[in-house]
Amino acid sequence: MDLLIKESAEIIRESKFVIAFTGAGISVESGIPPFRGEHGLWNKYNPEVLDLGFYLENPDECWFYIREIFYDFFSDAHPNKAHKVLARMEKEGLLKSLVTQNIDNLHQQAGSTIVHEFHGNSKRLKCLKCGKLFSSKEFDFKKIPPRCDEDGEILKPDFIFFGEGIPRDAYENSFADAEKADVCIIVGSTGEVTPASFVPRTAKQSGAVIIEINPEETMFTGPVTDIHLKGKASEVLSKLEKELF
Ligand code: NAD
Repeated sequence: MDLLIKESAEIIRESKFVIAFTGAGISVESGIPPFRGEHGLWNKYNPEVLDLGFYLENPDECWFYIREIFYDFFSDAHPNKAHKVLARMEKEGLLKSLVTQNIDNLHQQAGSTIVHEFHGNSKRLKCLKCGKLFSSKEFDFKKIPPRCDEDGEILKPDFIFFGEGIPRDAYENSFADAEKADVCIIVGSTGEVTPASFVPRTAKQSGAVIIEINPEETMFTGPVTDIHLKGKASEVLSKLEKELF
Protein backbone atom coordinates (compact mmCIF):
# COMPACT_ATOMS: atom_id res chain seq x y z
CA MET A 1 0.00 0.00 0.00
CA ASP A 2 2.71 2.52 0.95
CA LEU A 3 4.48 1.78 -2.34
CA LEU A 4 1.25 2.38 -4.26
CA ILE A 5 0.80 5.70 -2.45
CA LYS A 6 4.36 6.75 -3.38
CA GLU A 7 3.72 5.74 -6.99
CA SER A 8 0.41 7.69 -7.03
CA ALA A 9 2.11 10.79 -5.60
CA GLU A 10 4.77 10.62 -8.30
CA ILE A 11 2.17 10.31 -11.06
CA ILE A 12 0.17 13.24 -9.63
CA ARG A 13 3.27 15.43 -9.33
CA GLU A 14 4.25 14.76 -12.93
CA SER A 15 0.75 15.32 -14.36
CA LYS A 16 -0.69 18.50 -15.82
CA PHE A 17 -4.43 18.15 -15.30
CA VAL A 18 -5.49 16.16 -12.25
CA ILE A 19 -9.19 15.96 -11.35
CA ALA A 20 -11.00 14.29 -8.47
CA PHE A 21 -14.38 12.55 -8.56
CA THR A 22 -16.04 12.05 -5.19
CA GLY A 23 -19.03 10.16 -3.84
CA ALA A 24 -20.84 9.66 -0.56
CA GLY A 25 -17.88 7.67 0.88
CA ILE A 26 -15.70 10.76 1.34
CA SER A 27 -18.25 12.19 3.79
CA VAL A 28 -18.77 9.01 5.81
CA GLU A 29 -16.00 10.04 8.23
CA SER A 30 -17.82 13.37 8.68
CA GLY A 31 -20.78 11.40 10.02
CA ILE A 32 -22.95 11.38 6.88
CA PRO A 33 -23.95 7.84 5.90
CA PRO A 34 -24.05 6.79 2.24
CA PHE A 35 -27.34 5.86 0.60
CA ARG A 36 -26.50 2.22 0.04
CA GLY A 37 -24.93 -0.58 2.09
CA GLU A 38 -25.37 -1.82 5.65
CA HIS A 39 -25.65 1.61 7.32
CA GLY A 40 -27.05 3.34 4.23
CA LEU A 41 -29.80 5.96 4.44
CA TRP A 42 -32.13 3.83 2.31
CA ASN A 43 -32.32 1.26 5.14
CA LYS A 44 -34.06 3.89 7.23
CA TYR A 45 -35.86 6.09 4.71
CA ASN A 46 -38.00 5.44 1.65
CA PRO A 47 -36.23 6.82 -1.45
CA GLU A 48 -39.71 7.84 -2.68
CA VAL A 49 -39.41 11.08 -0.65
CA LEU A 50 -36.75 12.18 -3.16
CA ASP A 51 -38.74 11.18 -6.23
CA LEU A 52 -39.76 14.32 -8.13
CA GLY A 53 -43.24 13.06 -9.07
CA PHE A 54 -44.03 11.92 -5.52
CA TYR A 55 -42.58 15.14 -4.07
CA LEU A 56 -44.70 17.39 -6.29
CA GLU A 57 -47.84 15.59 -5.13
CA ASN A 58 -46.85 15.24 -1.46
CA PRO A 59 -44.48 18.13 -0.62
CA ASP A 60 -45.54 18.37 3.03
CA GLU A 61 -44.90 14.70 3.76
CA CYS A 62 -41.58 14.76 1.84
CA TRP A 63 -40.38 17.88 3.63
CA PHE A 64 -40.81 16.14 6.99
CA TYR A 65 -38.13 13.59 5.96
CA ILE A 66 -36.06 16.03 3.88
CA ARG A 67 -35.69 18.24 6.96
CA GLU A 68 -34.60 15.31 9.11
CA ILE A 69 -32.06 13.94 6.63
CA PHE A 70 -30.60 17.04 5.02
CA TYR A 71 -31.10 19.89 7.46
CA ASP A 72 -31.16 18.39 11.00
CA PHE A 73 -28.58 15.74 10.31
CA PHE A 74 -26.24 17.12 7.59
CA SER A 75 -25.98 20.51 9.30
CA ASP A 76 -23.84 19.08 12.14
CA ALA A 77 -21.27 17.63 9.71
CA HIS A 78 -17.86 19.21 9.17
CA PRO A 79 -15.25 18.55 6.48
CA ASN A 80 -12.85 15.75 7.38
CA LYS A 81 -9.17 15.30 6.55
CA ALA A 82 -9.99 13.89 3.08
CA HIS A 83 -11.94 17.01 2.05
CA LYS A 84 -9.10 19.14 3.44
CA VAL A 85 -6.32 17.34 1.55
CA LEU A 86 -8.20 17.77 -1.75
CA ALA A 87 -8.68 21.48 -0.97
CA ARG A 88 -4.96 21.81 -0.24
CA MET A 89 -4.08 20.04 -3.48
CA GLU A 90 -6.17 22.57 -5.40
CA LYS A 91 -4.56 25.49 -3.53
CA GLU A 92 -1.06 24.20 -4.27
CA GLY A 93 -1.90 23.73 -7.96
CA LEU A 94 -1.97 19.93 -7.93
CA LEU A 95 -5.71 19.54 -8.52
CA LYS A 96 -7.50 21.38 -11.33
CA SER A 97 -11.09 20.58 -10.46
CA LEU A 98 -13.32 18.38 -8.42
CA VAL A 99 -16.50 16.69 -9.63
CA THR A 100 -18.70 15.68 -6.70
CA GLN A 101 -21.87 13.65 -6.51
CA ASN A 102 -22.30 14.89 -2.95
CA ILE A 103 -24.79 17.54 -2.00
CA ASP A 104 -23.44 18.24 1.49
CA ASN A 105 -21.26 21.29 0.60
CA LEU A 106 -18.31 19.84 2.60
CA HIS A 107 -15.77 20.29 -0.22
CA GLN A 108 -16.62 23.98 -0.41
CA GLN A 109 -16.46 24.28 3.40
CA ALA A 110 -13.00 22.69 3.31
CA GLY A 111 -11.80 25.37 0.86
CA SER A 112 -12.17 23.77 -2.58
CA THR A 113 -13.27 26.43 -5.07
CA ILE A 114 -13.56 24.63 -8.42
CA VAL A 115 -16.31 22.18 -7.58
CA HIS A 116 -18.68 20.83 -10.23
CA GLU A 117 -21.82 19.97 -8.25
CA PHE A 118 -23.08 17.11 -10.38
CA HIS A 119 -26.17 16.54 -8.24
CA GLY A 120 -26.63 20.06 -6.87
CA ASN A 121 -26.28 21.31 -3.31
CA SER A 122 -28.56 20.98 -0.28
CA LYS A 123 -27.45 24.35 1.08
CA ARG A 124 -29.52 26.09 -1.59
CA LEU A 125 -33.30 26.03 -1.98
CA LYS A 126 -35.09 26.87 -5.19
CA CYS A 127 -38.55 28.15 -6.05
CA LEU A 128 -39.84 25.94 -8.86
CA LYS A 129 -42.23 28.73 -9.97
CA CYS A 130 -39.98 31.81 -10.26
CA GLY A 131 -36.54 30.16 -10.04
CA LYS A 132 -35.37 32.33 -7.10
CA LEU A 133 -32.57 30.76 -5.07
CA PHE A 134 -32.31 30.95 -1.29
CA SER A 135 -29.58 29.96 1.15
CA SER A 136 -30.74 27.26 3.57
CA LYS A 137 -29.34 29.53 6.33
CA GLU A 138 -32.32 31.83 5.79
CA PHE A 139 -34.67 29.20 7.23
CA ASP A 140 -34.85 27.59 10.65
CA PHE A 141 -36.95 24.69 9.30
CA LYS A 142 -39.13 24.66 12.42
CA LYS A 143 -41.94 25.58 10.06
CA ILE A 144 -42.06 23.40 6.98
CA PRO A 145 -42.40 23.46 4.06
CA PRO A 146 -40.30 26.61 3.44
CA ARG A 147 -41.92 29.01 0.97
CA CYS A 148 -40.77 31.57 -1.58
CA ASP A 149 -41.04 35.17 -0.33
CA GLU A 150 -42.05 36.33 -3.83
CA ASP A 151 -44.91 34.01 -4.73
CA GLY A 152 -45.52 31.74 -1.71
CA GLU A 153 -44.58 28.58 -3.61
CA ILE A 154 -43.07 25.67 -1.69
CA LEU A 155 -39.27 25.60 -2.10
CA LYS A 156 -37.38 22.54 -3.20
CA PRO A 157 -33.80 21.74 -2.14
CA ASP A 158 -31.50 22.61 -5.07
CA PHE A 159 -30.20 19.09 -5.48
CA ILE A 160 -31.55 16.68 -8.01
CA PHE A 161 -34.33 14.30 -7.12
CA PHE A 162 -34.92 10.97 -8.85
CA GLY A 163 -36.42 11.83 -12.22
CA GLU A 164 -34.56 15.13 -12.63
CA GLY A 165 -31.77 15.99 -15.07
CA ILE A 166 -28.20 16.91 -14.16
CA PRO A 167 -27.58 20.69 -13.90
CA ARG A 168 -26.29 21.70 -17.34
CA ASP A 169 -23.16 23.66 -16.31
CA ALA A 170 -22.00 20.94 -13.91
CA TYR A 171 -22.57 18.28 -16.55
CA GLU A 172 -20.70 20.11 -19.30
CA ASN A 173 -17.81 21.24 -17.10
CA SER A 174 -17.37 17.78 -15.56
CA PHE A 175 -17.11 16.02 -18.91
CA ALA A 176 -14.92 18.77 -20.41
CA ASP A 177 -12.49 18.35 -17.50
CA ALA A 178 -12.65 14.55 -17.72
CA GLU A 179 -11.58 14.76 -21.36
CA LYS A 180 -8.62 16.99 -20.44
CA ALA A 181 -7.55 14.97 -17.39
CA ASP A 182 -4.33 12.99 -17.25
CA VAL A 183 -5.18 11.70 -13.74
CA CYS A 184 -8.58 11.13 -12.13
CA ILE A 185 -8.72 10.37 -8.39
CA ILE A 186 -11.98 8.62 -7.48
CA VAL A 187 -12.86 8.80 -3.78
CA GLY A 188 -15.69 6.87 -2.11
CA SER A 189 -18.05 6.07 -4.96
CA THR A 190 -19.68 2.77 -5.86
CA GLY A 191 -19.86 3.83 -9.51
CA GLU A 192 -23.47 2.65 -9.63
CA VAL A 193 -25.05 6.04 -10.23
CA THR A 194 -25.27 7.16 -13.85
CA PRO A 195 -24.54 9.43 -15.65
CA ALA A 196 -22.10 10.51 -12.88
CA SER A 197 -20.07 7.32 -13.16
CA PHE A 198 -19.38 8.13 -16.83
CA VAL A 199 -17.11 11.00 -15.69
CA PRO A 200 -14.16 8.77 -14.58
CA ARG A 201 -14.91 6.43 -17.47
CA THR A 202 -14.54 9.37 -19.88
CA ALA A 203 -11.25 10.34 -18.23
CA LYS A 204 -10.05 6.76 -18.66
CA GLN A 205 -11.03 6.73 -22.34
CA SER A 206 -9.16 10.01 -22.79
CA GLY A 207 -5.99 8.38 -21.46
CA ALA A 208 -6.03 9.42 -17.79
CA VAL A 209 -4.53 7.26 -15.04
CA ILE A 210 -7.33 6.33 -12.63
CA ILE A 211 -6.47 6.22 -8.92
CA GLU A 212 -9.28 4.90 -6.73
CA ILE A 213 -9.56 5.39 -2.96
CA ASN A 214 -12.14 3.12 -1.33
CA PRO A 215 -12.01 0.43 1.41
CA GLU A 216 -14.11 -1.81 -0.88
CA GLU A 217 -14.06 -2.91 -4.49
CA THR A 218 -16.52 -1.05 -6.71
CA MET A 219 -17.85 -1.00 -10.27
CA PHE A 220 -14.72 1.00 -11.16
CA THR A 221 -12.23 -1.45 -9.63
CA GLY A 222 -10.92 -3.67 -12.39
CA PRO A 223 -12.39 -2.22 -15.59
CA VAL A 224 -11.57 1.45 -14.90
CA THR A 225 -9.16 1.73 -11.97
CA ASP A 226 -5.39 1.56 -12.55
CA ILE A 227 -4.29 1.94 -8.91
CA HIS A 228 -6.61 0.95 -6.05
CA LEU A 229 -5.58 2.56 -2.75
CA LYS A 230 -7.63 0.36 -0.48
CA GLY A 231 -8.61 2.19 2.69
CA LYS A 232 -10.65 4.97 4.23
CA ALA A 233 -10.53 8.31 2.43
CA SER A 234 -9.00 10.31 5.31
CA GLU A 235 -6.30 7.73 6.05
CA VAL A 236 -5.24 7.27 2.43
CA LEU A 237 -5.36 10.98 1.57
CA SER A 238 -3.35 11.87 4.72
CA LYS A 239 -0.61 9.50 3.54
CA LEU A 240 -0.79 10.88 0.02
CA GLU A 241 -0.49 14.42 1.41
CA LYS A 242 2.73 13.45 3.22
CA GLU A 243 4.19 12.19 -0.06
CA LEU A 244 3.04 15.21 -2.05
CA PHE A 245 4.10 18.12 0.16
P1 NAD B 1 -22.77 5.16 -2.47
O1 NAD B 1 -23.61 5.49 -1.30
O2 NAD B 1 -23.37 4.38 -3.57
O3 NAD B 1 -21.42 4.42 -2.05
C1 NAD B 1 -20.52 4.91 -1.12
C2 NAD B 1 -19.13 4.35 -1.39
O4 NAD B 1 -18.24 4.88 -0.41
C3 NAD B 1 -18.99 2.82 -1.31
O5 NAD B 1 -18.25 2.33 -2.40
C4 NAD B 1 -18.20 2.58 0.00
O6 NAD B 1 -17.36 1.43 -0.05
C5 NAD B 1 -17.39 3.84 0.07
N1 NAD B 1 -16.95 4.24 1.41
C6 NAD B 1 -17.55 4.02 2.60
N2 NAD B 1 -16.81 4.53 3.61
C7 NAD B 1 -15.74 5.11 3.03
C8 NAD B 1 -14.61 5.82 3.53
N3 NAD B 1 -14.45 6.08 4.84
N4 NAD B 1 -13.68 6.27 2.65
C9 NAD B 1 -13.81 6.04 1.32
N5 NAD B 1 -14.86 5.37 0.79
C10 NAD B 1 -15.80 4.92 1.63
O7 NAD B 1 -22.22 6.53 -2.97
P2 NAD B 1 -22.19 7.15 -4.39
O8 NAD B 1 -21.55 6.25 -5.37
O9 NAD B 1 -21.64 8.50 -4.16
O10 NAD B 1 -23.72 7.29 -4.86
C11 NAD B 1 -24.79 7.66 -4.05
C12 NAD B 1 -25.48 8.92 -4.45
O11 NAD B 1 -26.06 9.40 -3.27
C13 NAD B 1 -24.59 10.01 -4.94
O12 NAD B 1 -25.01 10.32 -6.19
C14 NAD B 1 -24.80 11.20 -4.00
O13 NAD B 1 -25.39 12.28 -4.69
C15 NAD B 1 -25.80 10.77 -3.02
N6 NAD B 1 -25.42 10.92 -1.59
C16 NAD B 1 -24.75 12.01 -1.17
C17 NAD B 1 -24.39 12.13 0.15
C18 NAD B 1 -23.63 13.35 0.57
O14 NAD B 1 -23.83 14.42 0.01
N7 NAD B 1 -22.70 13.19 1.54
C19 NAD B 1 -24.72 11.12 1.06
C20 NAD B 1 -25.44 10.02 0.60
C21 NAD B 1 -25.77 9.93 -0.73
